[in-house]
Amino acid sequence: MSQEKFEQHQESGKHSIFQEFSSSEEDKLAALFERVGFDFNTLQSILEKYLEKSGVEDGGKYRDFSMLHVVDVKFDEIDKGRREATADLIKGIVSIDAGLIEEQEQQARKMLEDSPVPKEKHQKLVEAFVHYKLLKNLIHEYVHIRGHVHIENGPDYVGIDAGYAKRQETLLEDGVVEQKNSNVSLSEAVTEKMALEIYQEYAHRAGATRQAYVGKKMLDTMEEITKIVLEQDDLGGYDNIVETLDIILEHIADEAELQKEIVWNAFKQGYFAGLPEITNLLSELSGFLKEEFPQMVDAETNSNEWNPMVFRSKLSEWEANRGKTLAEEMHI
Ligand SMILES: [Zn+2]
Repeated sequence: MSQEKFEQHQESGKHSIFQEFSSSEEDKLAALFERVGFDFNTLQSILEKYLEKSGVEDGGKYRDFSMLHVVDVKFDEIDKGRREATADLIKGIVSIDAGLIEEQEQQARKMLEDSPVPKEKHQKLVEAFVHYKLLKNLIHEYVHIRGHVHIENGPDYVGIDAGYAKRQETLLEDGVVEQKNSNVSLSEAVTEKMALEIYQEYAHRAGATRQAYVGKKMLDTMEEITKIVLEQDDLGGYDNIVETLDIILEHIADEAELQKEIVWNAFKQGYFAGLPEITNLLSELSGFLKEEFPQMVDAETNSNEWNPMVFRSKLSEWEANRGKTLAEEMHI
């Protein structure tokens, strides 16, 4: 979100939709949150428990949910279809495109009308879809905000470390800005995996486990249909990259003869504390992914060509050439 838009938002007196929760007609986003019956106290307590159980000591500066700004934003056409939400890590703002979620809701409705699903079930399914889309997006962006953030500013350089991702921009002599990103995909995978776990727990506590399951399935089905219609093999979802992360976690757990959960906790701790051991390890893994599966990493997302079996064997091969196992490197 632009600085200007943020200031306008502040001037309008809407500090946070969670505090004012107005459902005035122009505030589409607040209305959406009200519609899904969102309860931020429940989410806040789940998050704190989740971090505590994962051994995360520093939960970031926006640990109080009420300090968070959640605002409605209209993404440019170019961003559409790529995302519904984004986060400003410095100011603690989550921007969600409520209009885009509503558009997707209409698509979901249309998909159901063209399907053999009985009419009386449509509304419930659409509600499940909106629940998943809205809340999982909110949690994903909030995890980014709570994660480790470090910024370096120079006269012609800016570097942002966020979670495990590193983004650098350098102004070159000819006025061109050179961008270098690393670990972005793997850091997104860690963020998304946490967001899914937290969302599932939230849905469970809110008595909406089935709703959460149905919502995710609806989205998967819609994406599948869109892929077929548009003849695209990549819609920018995170499923494959989360699967990649799962394979890496299983692999390390096997080597270290530990439960996967312990390795996963180490990854979570590193994400919030900015641990250099794990960050460096992920940089190496990102390099390997870039070389072996460029279509996945370049898009920062995933591709249909992704094959978990191939990945597993290439990972073992890469590690054998490297001389030291990932588990040894992590000291777990
Ligand atoms: Zn993200």
